[in-house]
Amino acid sequence: MRVIAIDGPAGAGKSTVARQVSTATGLRYLDTGAMYRCVALEVQNTATDPNDADAVGKIARDVKVVIERDAAKLNGVDVSTEIRTGQINAIVSIIAAHTPVRDAMREQQRKWIEAQKGGVVEGRDIGTVVFPDAILKVFLTASPEVRAERRVGQTGGDITAVAASIAERDHLDSTRLDSPLRPSEDSVIVDSSNRTIEEVVAEIVSHFERVDHG
Ligand code: C5P
Repeated sequence: MRVIAIDGPAGAGKSTVARQVSTATGLRYLDTGAMYRCVALEVQNTATDPNDADAVGKIARDVKVVIERDAAKLNGVDVSTEIRTGQINAIVSIIAAHTPVRDAMREQQRKWIEAQKGGVVEGRDIGTVVFPDAILKVFLTASPEVRAERRVGQTGGDITAVAASIAERDHLDSTRLDSPLRPSEDSVIVDSSNRTIEEVVAEIVSHFERVDHG
């Protein structure tokens, strides 16, 4: 499968970079973070306890999540804005740590890739767990300061609060037992701190052209 896995912490520029890599390569783009965010929104809407792994797992199996290039749909409703609030940021890493939730999301991600015959897939565990055979694995990172500044530039907010929220999510994502955020041994590590998006995209596309024989 022609899969480009792009993993990394919040605010490293994964979405922007993955979209442009998708355009440059002609592969479809999948934002797996949006899938976890949709589950978190349903948890919030149903006043479910985010720490209840069984209840949240049932929601993850039952909800209909469709991620398109420019919209996230939960049970047929476009929730692209609702999944990016501070409240969702505060619970998404809690619900994403539950194995029943991850099992349900992984199954959907693999089906999506089979149907699309490949893709640019962005997340936290794509190269390590979901698509360990991806032909290119990128771990995209940046300094905590740069990541917080970028998020404030995109969504506004107080820099100290945004930095704290990112640090909390990074901590939960990288210390959970099931598929923690970490680079796989065979990933290319790209630090976007002092580089433009164009430079990062060009580097990833050139790695892809080197390994793609399909
Ligand atoms: O990428 P984004 O910041 O939208 O991801 C939101 C959250 O979803 C992450 O902080 C993480 O808890 C979870 N996530 C995950 N595995 C993925 C993608 C996202 O656990 N593959």
